[in-house]
Amino acid sequence: MARGCLLAGARLVDPAAGRDGAFDVRIAGDRVAEVAPSLDPAGAGVVDCRGLVLAPGFVDLHTHLREPGREDEETVESGSRAAALGGYTAVCAMANSEPVADSGAVVEQVWTLGRAAGLVDVFPVGAITVGLAGRALAELGEMAGSAARVGFFSDDGRCLQDSGLMRRALEYARVFDAIVANHAEDSALAEGWQMNEGEVSSVLGLAGLPAEAEEVIVARDLALARLTGARLHVPHVSTAGTVELIRVAKRRGVRVTAEATPHHLTLTEEAARGYDPVFKVAPPLRAREDVEALRAGLADGTIDCVATDHAPHAPEEKDREWDAAPCGMLGLETALAVLLTELVPGHLALARLVEAMSAAPARARALADHGGPVAAGRPANLVVFDPEALWTVDAAGLASRSRNTPFGGRELRGKVVHTIHDGRFTVRDGRVADGKG
Ligand SMILES: [Zn+2]
Repeated sequence: MARGCLLAGARLVDPAAGRDGAFDVRIAGDRVAEVAPSLDPAGAGVVDCRGLVLAPGFVDLHTHLREPGREDEETVESGSRAAALGGYTAVCAMANSEPVADSGAVVEQVWTLGRAAGLVDVFPVGAITVGLAGRALAELGEMAGSAARVGFFSDDGRCLQDSGLMRRALEYARVFDAIVANHAEDSALAEGWQMNEGEVSSVLGLAGLPAEAEEVIVARDLALARLTGARLHVPHVSTAGTVELIRVAKRRGVRVTAEATPHHLTLTEEAARGYDPVFKVAPPLRAREDVEALRAGLADGTIDCVATDHAPHAPEEKDREWDAAPCGMLGLETALAVLLTELVPGHLALARLVEAMSAAPARARALADHGGPVAAGRPANLVVFDPEALWTVDAAGLASRSRNTPFGGRELRGKVVHTIHDGRFTVRDGRVADGKG
């Protein structure tokens, strides 16, 4: 695909520049060359973007790519395709691969695979503890100093229970200004859980996970972030109480950012009534009042960003009875559409959604080449989407190697048309532009 083109007539939503209006954007090589209300095409290939929204490419702080180890579920390449189709130009690959990304060697392997796929920037997340076992700190410095330049550490999938280790991880991460995220689930309160604890779990006879299992860990981690002065990131916030804890901590100056997933923002525990394990996820889908609090938190900035927690699972493991199925859902290819359909404009302004998917996560992870501003000389990492297009999610047609989307068969509004990574179309007219269709 030739580089250099003029994206003409779009509504440019660029939160980092405070812009929301009709602008043309010229791309030359891997950079944005010019941004103005009206540009002369002057021989550049013109891409008609009238009626479409142009924004900084999306950034996902929470992606499980499953490679190395579970290439039957996802690979860095297939996950990159899914990400590009979802409008992403950068994803953070969680460390719970096999082997675990707890060393310079594994994070460099993931980094190299991402470069080879060449569709999005894949930023490996390093494990906090060796083997995610929660007993000994991993070589954070080695990972930070590797070619992958890891600036984000998490044992996601497991909660780091040990307060002393969490404190040391925060102190260590602070040295290289990295962020630390902890999957918040107090083990003593989480014994054998199957879904959210509440009326529905009582009716269904499934063991519940109380909101407090998340909140006690988040409260502790916020206290440790305050103690250490380090940067804490709270992943997949799922309860009203957690939103309030973060709101208060931000007011007190704690260096904390937070994310919520499309599924926690749009689905409730009621989905468990059908015992369809596609709705089984960690943390579990919560009560209606939790969803309302997440929406309010996202709107007012308490929750900085949307992250997918894209978690592919093999059908032979996921399509079992509820109790035996693993937790997790796909998210990359449906995130934008789910949120446009369910939240915009009633609960959330379109510009705030764009910010929560681009500028805010880029800022949280300090990714200078992503999230805008869309300005001359900046890397051309962009998404163009149609905010009105209707489409139906076909689970079998997803680019992901797995099929566990909770939105299969759903008609959604909003579709990615083009994704541009380093000046190159990775998705053009809704298809991956790598010659493989
Ligand atoms: Zn998690």
